[in-house]
Amino acid sequence: MPAIPALSYSSFRTYQECPLRWRFLYIDRLPETPRGYFTFGRVVHSVLEELVAPLVVPSARRVSENDRQRTLDEWHKAPAGSTAPAHLMSSEELLAAYERAWSSEGYTSPEEESRYRALGREILLRYYDFLVRERPLPISVEEHLEARWDGIPVHGYIDRIDRTPAGGLEIVDYKTSRDLSNEDARDSDQLSLYQVLVESNYAEPVEGLTLYHLRSLTPLRVAPRERAELAGLHDRLGTVVDGIRAEAYEPTPGRQCARCDFQDRCPEFRSVPPADGDRLRALVDRFESLRAEENRLEGELRRTAEELHRAAEELGVHRVPGSRSVAVRRREEAWQYSLDPVRPLLERSGLSHRVTSGTPEEVRRLVRDATVDPEVRRRVAETGARRVKWYWDLESENNP
Ligand code: SF4
Repeated sequence: MPAIPALSYSSFRTYQECPLRWRFLYIDRLPETPRGYFTFGRVVHSVLEELVAPLVVPSARRVSENDRQRTLDEWHKAPAGSTAPAHLMSSEELLAAYERAWSSEGYTSPEEESRYRALGREILLRYYDFLVRERPLPISVEEHLEARWDGIPVHGYIDRIDRTPAGGLEIVDYKTSRDLSNEDARDSDQLSLYQVLVESNYAEPVEGLTLYHLRSLTPLRVAPRERAELAGLHDRLGTVVDGIRAEAYEPTPGRQCARCDFQDRCPEFRSVPPADGDRLRALVDRFESLRAEENRLEGELRRTAEELHRAAEELGVHRVPGSRSVAVRRREEAWQYSLDPVRPLLERSGLSHRVTSGTPEEVRRLVRDATVDPEVRRRVAETGARRVKWYWDLESENNP
């Protein structure tokens, strides 16, 4: 059984999208082609880390090493607040740091690179003004946190954790992407996972989750997730862990294929080798003919059985001898109850809980229950209808 690696958000999402791509990336460790927008995001993140790091006052209380891991049911008590002194680099120093960090990796043309470069400069200068004005109280930047969340190992790098005025913690994740909405923050599994990581490593409560849209300097802030929302993510992480444990790495084609570097290794895209082309082409042609024949025979079988049924009905017989065997008419029957019309009656009689699934067995138990009002039983029984399905069996003439 393979060891389960700690899941990051991107590892989790990759497996959900396509387990085979996950295997290529996280087991085979195949490199991906660099892409300009990823390089850009990485550079901006690293300069923001350099900018904000001097402001960090690690004033929050860490969960002690000896503390057992908290579970979904356990939540923190609010601590006292704290303040942070600040030392900020100048805007010139910021731009110099940006130039030092810049990488040309992955851009498709000099024009694209220079467009991104100018955008990064603009984003950083505007963010710098915001920082001077707002002075957040960061307690950590780019911190790597790990946890074992009810048995599932998870980890992640948190862009920024701030102290809130009330003494709690706010998780901030920078986004350099073009568009971002409140729904993105509300539905973000990434923020949910970060909440779990911070809750597991810090004693203070998480009071806010923020996706920070850098292009518009807009913080999209939402309340921390409720227990039920986190439980849903835990279930999905558990499904991924089960898949990895079972070494289930099936290709799952979708929109993600457009940015997948492994199409030449993927059964969904790989071509048949020329040496096997003729043999496989003949097999496909034969399969296609047989499938057409199967459909034709199925139709013919159905029409013959229907004709036999009509004749058997007219003559009132259930056994029809052929030359080699006897066709025997059989039936399958089932009862179906449509309880919708009597639901209000069942509710008024306090009997709704007796027919939750509506299966015939469940309804019959109620109908036969002598302790139930006979009128209710009659009305429920009347919603039932008997469905009969006829079919033909073949028996050998000498061996019925
Ligand atoms: S090409 Fe598509 S289906 Fe194949 S591994 Fe990549 S993402 Fe998965």
